[in-house]
Amino acid sequence: MFKKILIANRGEIALRVIRACREMGIASVAVHSTADSDAMHVRMADEAVCIGPPPANQSYLLVPAIISACEITGAEAIHPGYGFLSENEKFVQAVQDHGLTFIGPDPEHIRLMGDKITAKDTMKKLGVPCVPGSDGGVPTLEDALRIGEEFGYPVLVKATAGGGGRGMKLARSAEEMKNAFRTARSEAKAAFGNDEVYLEKYLGKPRHIEVQVFGDGKGNAVHLGERDCSLQRRHQKVFEEAPGPAIDAETRARIGKVCAEAVAAINYAGAGTIEFLFEDGEFFFIEMNTRLQVEHPVTESIFGVDLVREQIRVAAGLPLSFSQEDLQINGHSIEVRINAEKLPNFTPCPGRITAYHAPGGLGVRMDSALYNGYSIPPYYDSLIGKLIVHGRDRPEAIARLDRALGELIVDGIDTTLPMFRDLLRERAVLTGDYDIHWLESWLERAN
Ligand code: ADP
Repeated sequence: MFKKILIANRGEIALRVIRACREMGIASVAVHSTADSDAMHVRMADEAVCIGPPPANQSYLLVPAIISACEITGAEAIHPGYGFLSENEKFVQAVQDHGLTFIGPDPEHIRLMGDKITAKDTMKKLGVPCVPGSDGGVPTLEDALRIGEEFGYPVLVKATAGGGGRGMKLARSAEEMKNAFRTARSEAKAAFGNDEVYLEKYLGKPRHIEVQVFGDGKGNAVHLGERDCSLQRRHQKVFEEAPGPAIDAETRARIGKVCAEAVAAINYAGAGTIEFLFEDGEFFFIEMNTRLQVEHPVTESIFGVDLVREQIRVAAGLPLSFSQEDLQINGHSIEVRINAEKLPNFTPCPGRITAYHAPGGLGVRMDSALYNGYSIPPYYDSLIGKLIVHGRDRPEAIARLDRALGELIVDGIDTTLPMFRDLLRERAVLTGDYDIHWLESWLERAN
């Protein structure tokens, strides 16, 4: 097992990894920008190294600085968290070239899944159901119009390098395709330096269902059921739950098996998430994330496993610590993402926290790097905390979430907390009867 791990991240996810390290008897190294000298991950780690000025591209994304920090401290492995360098194959290659271990999959798997066209192609060959669409890239508007006619509108134009909903445009008719095709390409070019796009049939009222998988890198893999992350704003998840209210045990076992077999077949190592749209009882693959997800705690809650510990074990060459049969669902879990944003427009709202009190009690977990007097810097993501609850069933989890939201105090800045109190009064949320468009239209109605 590793003696020392460096965490190439900040905020709640850095704390999450430090906690796993401590329980495993592994020393932790934090890295930070000058804006984060007072951050909780710096205080909580065994050692900390300042790696640059506030902008992420001069610190948290600066590969030579992170590798130097490993060499200075003697860290043997790097946990990337999510975001930043977690799905950057060049970073992983550099880490390995320096004789260090990357806690995550091989660079070739990151490359394979990072390009959405290759990802879809691979998944299709592995027997995973995909959204019907163009097979591969669509080079010209003429091709796009021809395929649009073939599939029938509405059609979604998507960037092969896409992420965070960028480079994605809806075309409801041939007329709209002209504009959608052009803007998706220029957006993709600007955001990712790659203007290749592909087409997908647009699904009208799907749920976002994602399957958690775990591989040992040697051809063995398991699945840990699904998460329903349909409640999204601008393609960003805000409320996630497991198990999915629309998925029964038989459906779970069926799609889970397909996913586990697919990642086993490519010798995938570590945690991965296979994302689907789910409509009328059918699954359609959209993408695979080759890292730990923000919402991983809901899966941990219902299976009683530590996914970060498992990532570290697999990276150290150990076998999976659970078999498919060991993985039994216990109860229901919900996570809400609390952002430093001002409602109703979700304007980023960094600033000083004058009072912070985390909720507690049975079945409540608060993953946050906040503390009294902390100043949230304006340079990074606005996620300031994740409130995760676990109950024996969905109604108990909802009641617990309502109770915990009432206990949570974050003073000094505006947050998205009030939205969750309101959401828990909505029938669709109480019954679990929602799709990926529900939250946006609810927000529109509320404004
Ligand atoms: P990104 O990587 O940019 O987040 P995804 O492919 O994961 O892009 O899609 C993000 C979100 O966009 C999905 O969760 C879903 O809400 C919506 N979406 C993607 N593909 C389709 C589709 N074919 N039909 C309808 N909605 C879609």
